[in-house]
Amino acid sequence: MIVAEQKPLEEIKGLIADARKVLVVGCGTCVTVCFAGGEKEAGILAASLRMASRIDGTPVEVSHVTVQRQCEWEYIDPVGEQAHEADIVVSLGCGIGVQALAERFADVIVVPGLNTAFLGQPTEQGVWEERCAACGSCLLGLTGGICPIARCAKQLLNGPCGGSQNGECEIGHDTPCAWQLIYDRLAAQNRLHLLMEIQPPKDWTTSRDGGPRRITREDLRLAAEGSD
Ligand code: SF4
Ligand code: SF4
Repeated sequence: MIVAEQKPLEEIKGLIADARKVLVVGCGTCVTVCFAGGEKEAGILAASLRMASRIDGTPVEVSHVTVQRQCEWEYIDPVGEQAHEADIVVSLGCGIGVQALAERFADVIVVPGLNTAFLGQPTEQGVWEERCAACGSCLLGLTGGICPIARCAKQLLNGPCGGSQNGECEIGHDTPCAWQLIYDRLAAQNRLHLLMEIQPPKDWTTSRDGGPRRITREDLRLAAEGSD
């Protein structure tokens, strides 16, 4: 899932400073699961902004709505009328949701209410950890299902750096060394031979380094109008 957290109220207030009518749009998927931008959070933020505006002496009309997914046209189209009635829309979706709203309703000012953080997993109640950096060429088959790109601070491909101590990464005691985890997993699976295969430098063109990425599935595309 995409993990995000809400921006400080003061920052959101700054983003809507000139508005008299604000629409907060929540998203019912990833950011609901990480308690950052779902229906409940959209309602709380709208109420907080209303209260704050009254305290500041410039009452603002703030309403809220939540769509199932802000990153897909069919889910955001139904809120177009509400969005166009507002001076500013505060998106509580991830960065994709913000951009989808801003693209679909291009004449509306859309601002982010969240900071989008990473692709992660809730590892215990109240804790989310990064698990994938979307590198576009997955190595998990060689590393016992533990990602050295997202979970090693140095993104090493051939074992740990000299800073790994007692299974911990040198960046801090609360961060396990990814390569210790990989070693332990492969040892438990009797697959340590995988570590003897030297990995060549990674081809980063499939990652962000290659520029904005696109996946096209021709078999799923709709035929152009007029074609067979
Ligand atoms: S190797 Fe790449 S695609 Fe696979 S989990 Fe790590 S970052 Fe994600
Ligand atoms: S200590 Fe381990 S996880 Fe941390 S940077 Fe070195 S190899 Fe990577």
